[in-house]
Amino acid sequence: MAKLALQGGPPVGSFTVPSWPRAAENALSNVQAVLESGRWSVAGNWQGGPSAEGRFADRFADFLGAPHCVPTMNGSSALVIALEALGVGAGDEVIVPGLTWVANASTVLAVNATPIMADLDPTTLCMSPAAVEAAVTERTRAIVVVHVYSSVADLDAILAIGERYGIPVVEDCSHAHGASWKGRRVGTWGAVGVFSMQERKLLTAGEGGAVVCRSDDLHDRLFQLRSDGRRPEARPVLGGSELTFDGSVIGANYCMSELCAAVLEAQLADLPEQNRHRAENAAVLDRLLANLPGVTPVAASPFVTERTFYQYTARIDREVFGGVSAATVARALAAETGMPFQPPYDPLYRHPLYRPLTKRRFLIEGLDPGRLTGPAGGLPETERAHREVLTLHHSVLLAPNDAFEALPSAIEKLQREAASLSDIESAGAEFADSR
Ligand SMILES: *Cc1c(COP(=O)(O)O)cnc(C)c1O
Repeated sequence: MAKLALQGGPPVGSFTVPSWPRAAENALSNVQAVLESGRWSVAGNWQGGPSAEGRFADRFADFLGAPHCVPTMNGSSALVIALEALGVGAGDEVIVPGLTWVANASTVLAVNATPIMADLDPTTLCMSPAAVEAAVTERTRAIVVVHVYSSVADLDAILAIGERYGIPVVEDCSHAHGASWKGRRVGTWGAVGVFSMQERKLLTAGEGGAVVCRSDDLHDRLFQLRSDGRRPEARPVLGGSELTFDGSVIGANYCMSELCAAVLEAQLADLPEQNRHRAENAAVLDRLLANLPGVTPVAASPFVTERTFYQYTARIDREVFGGVSAATVARALAAETGMPFQPPYDPLYRHPLYRPLTKRRFLIEGLDPGRLTGPAGGLPETERAHREVLTLHHSVLLAPNDAFEALPSAIEKLQREAASLSDIESAGAEFADSR
């Protein structure tokens, strides 16, 4: 019998988590240039050249192969203007995944629509096309698909459903900067693609976001929606504004600061190499786990031609871990290896940050509170994924290729000491009950 590291026993290995975020070579000089430029906001005075925000928009659009890009202050505001640009509003329903960050529900509520949560496809952990189709009603005004963790959703099937019912698809690519489906970058398949550049993401300036699209008309609306309803000035004058007042919709100020844009322009240059490094280490992990019983890496669909890893994910067979849940295995594995394993998100309808009906503006006519908390009985595959999936943040994948050797022995140790894992989980459950 070996004592688990969680119980004070010696850990199997140690691991240094590479620091994240990490500044790109030109980040500092780009920021310095903005600080000295006399223009810190896209709404500031034109200094004779493009704004940092405009430059980043062009670079990011090029990187994705998207005709248009509108940067925003964060991914949440990018989602809000995407929904607004598509005309989603009071009384509408928006289909979202059951397993994702809470912003996918809160941004739908923010436009006074109802998030309708769809179950996931157990092979990808992304929204299941069948569940999406089953959730369509005559009130459905948009489908928000999230390419979650290291997967790309079945875009062909979901876009086909959107087309069949005349419902636009929003791709939330906040986990998937640079992933490709059939040779084309994600974010360019749906009516609009949304990105977050928050600190934990693959591309970051601490905060930041972007919406990309093909349609000129959508671009016109997206631009106004994030700049207080202003449009770009075709012939700006030195010291004057590069934004005009002749818009057609009411907007809000969701603009990305010039300082963030300057950082992002530099960070974007490092993204391909970092994504390559992460993919290489994901393959190392796949190999290390290949011959172990009870742990199966989540594989990519063959249509994913470029795979990114926001989080590396693997599914456990709970039987061989004493029947405990992924949360307990993750804690124990983190203690044995030093690698910060975590369970996936809580299902959205019982996520601690999902608090519908706590803002008065959501109490609108036509909103059915009973529809806000997912189907009765929950989403079975989402619940199962929450119990069975281990995730590992991408910063871990930036370690040297030989840093993961302790993982198989740590997993074997947990399986040998499965009885201790059950003890730990029941002690935790008792603790939770007594709170
Ligand atoms: C991070 C994230 C968001 C929200 O982005 P913020 O920049 O934090 O506002 C939205 N969707 C998903 C899937 C995310 O991971």
